[in-house]
Amino acid sequence: MPALTATAATDFPPSDTYDLVVIGAGAVGENVADRAVQGGLSVLIVESELVGGECSYWACMPSKALLRAGSVLRAAHAVAGARAAITGSPDARAVLGRRDEVAAHWDDAGQVRWLQKAGIALARGTARLDGERRVAITAADGSMRAVTATHAVAICTGSRAAMPPIDGLAAARPWTSREITSAEHVPARLAIIGGGVVGCEMATAFTSLGSRVTLLARSGLLAEVEPFAGEAVAARTKRKPPAANGPTASTDIN
Ligand SMILES: Cc1cc2nc3c(=O)[nH]c(=O)nc-3n(C[C@H](O)[C@H](O)[C@H](O)COP(=O)(O)OP(=O)(O)OC[C@H]3O[C@@H](n4cnc5c(N)ncnc54)[C@H](O)[C@@H]3O)c2cc1C
Repeated sequence: MPALTATAATDFPPSDTYDLVVIGAGAVGENVADRAVQGGLSVLIVESELVGGECSYWACMPSKALLRAGSVLRAAHAVAGARAAITGSPDARAVLGRRDEVAAHWDDAGQVRWLQKAGIALARGTARLDGERRVAITAADGSMRAVTATHAVAICTGSRAAMPPIDGLAAARPWTSREITSAEHVPARLAIIGGGVVGCEMATAFTSLGSRVTLLARSGLLAEVEPFAGEAVAARTKRKPPAANGPTASTDIN
């Protein structure tokens, strides 16, 4: 996992009272905070890791960056005239490098600047409720500070990947969505448990980068949306990548 850079890591806010205290500076927390500030409220946002949360560093953004090269190649391959220009295989190192840029090299300075511009105060640390509309914040250095919200506390703490109860799985230290979206190499073989959006996206991306992927999906692919979507993903990932000299990887779906 790459090193994380959290700007102003022990910066407690100047005030101990805000109209709204938001716990968690992911996409949801940032939007709640922004709307409240635009409505004239004073807002403190508390973040224990990186401002921007999962979406910016381990989810939406890096996953789309990993998918992009394969998507462009497939689009070009579908067009007679353009197809002939595809003479090599995807450059996995370059794809991972571009992904690093899209994930801002796991440095949240840009998002912190956005908070400042939006007029949202930031406290670094782990927050917990400590009474009615009262939040205790513990910074990375162990120091503590309590703040009070005059209107409300918004809990926007997101979620983590669930580890299915499979014997030996946890001991094998599998990647979760975090490790795969920040992967520093393309594994030769990859088993993905779960045929939901994340499983399908990562199977598609790593197949296009040359991994031999086995996708284990007990309820089919994309079971929560219309059947044609899962069928299209299955048909696409089973097909060989379009590059003329590219790897012959494909996805086995079980
Ligand atoms: C691989 C992948 C791809 C995805 N692609 C898309 C996509 O393309 N489009 C889309 O809409 N969605 C996508 N999602 C889903 C999307 O990432 C989530 O819905 C979104 O990140 C949730 O945002 P959030 O703010 O609720 O939570 P998070 O982003 O998890 O933010 C919560 C924040 O709270 C902080 N926090 C937690 N506890 C505390 C505490 N006690 N004190 C202080 N801070 C705390 C955490 O550090 C974190 O920064 C994807 C998800 C994955 C895994």
